[in-house]
Amino acid sequence: MAKIIDGAAIAATIRTEIKEAVLRLKAEHGVTPGLATVLVGDNPASATYVRNKRKACAEVGIASFGYELPASTTQDEVMRLLQELGSRDDVHGILVQLPLPAHLDEQAILAAVPLHKDVDGFNPVNLGLLGVKGRQAPFAPCTPQGCIELLERSDIRIAGRRAVVLGRSTIVGLPVALMLLARDATVTICHSKTPNIASITRTADILVAAIGKPRFVTGDMVKAGVVVIDVGINRVPDASNPSGSRVVGDVDFDEVSEEASAITPVPGGVGPMTIAMLLKNTLIAAQRRVMG
Ligand code: NAP
Repeated sequence: MAKIIDGAAIAATIRTEIKEAVLRLKAEHGVTPGLATVLVGDNPASATYVRNKRKACAEVGIASFGYELPASTTQDEVMRLLQELGSRDDVHGILVQLPLPAHLDEQAILAAVPLHKDVDGFNPVNLGLLGVKGRQAPFAPCTPQGCIELLERSDIRIAGRRAVVLGRSTIVGLPVALMLLARDATVTICHSKTPNIASITRTADILVAAIGKPRFVTGDMVKAGVVVIDVGINRVPDASNPSGSRVVGDVDFDEVSEEASAITPVPGGVGPMTIAMLLKNTLIAAQRRVMG
């Protein structure tokens, strides 16, 4: 039976560490880390995500500045706001909540977030630097960083091992693959056009699943002893639950945990790490400012 990698507990530890570091930064340098959140439009899910991020900031002593703009906001208006936030001393990190309304040029907006304040890691330059040998990206995107932190804090060796990543999205699959590569894993990326995925997943020492397909990875698709990081968040019908549904990952937990040496549950695995990494990046941005 696999060891459960308890993302909720690890994220709680990280938040405590951040809270202590925020207090030290205030006491020693009089600086409070600040995160500006930019939400455009009235997508209720996005509004909830931003609310949760700001609440998490408050819990660790990070100041947050919420900017809620109407769906009719123009590209120029968003760009001007980013310029203003980029020059503010009390804003160390800037987060633009995605998705943006369709009339806005998302890539141009993400590229306008200054690199040293890009705590979400979605500026295309930051993403690209993840793949440049010998260069350190100022920030990595939070969910992939959460996956790596789960492995590292669970003392799971990455170097020299064979890692298979399911999914090649810009926000999860590709950056997590680059981060594993930078840590000397031998990495294979699979996507929707990959034939015979099971023959590849069976070679994995470390398997990261980020495809958004409920219980896609079954017990016969992995080898004994594999370490599994399940990024998927999928809502499936469940009559036994009062809400009529529940959340499952991209991995069939019951089957795969019989084979794996370690595995993240869903919920309570990667999910709680994402916001913890956002807080950590905001703290780091403020620490870097203080250090000059
Ligand atoms: P996405 O942008 O939809 O990308 C999905 C990726 O999976 C694509 O690369 C796609 O291939 C690939 N894929 C889809 N079906 C496949 C199949 N049958 N076999 C192999 N590959 C397949 O999704 P995402 O944003 O990366 O998110 C992935 C999952 O992670 C979702 O469940 C999402 O909710 C979850 N997620 C969780 C967190 C968290 O905080 N825990 C954060 C972000 C996302 P193509 O490129 O060929 O289309």
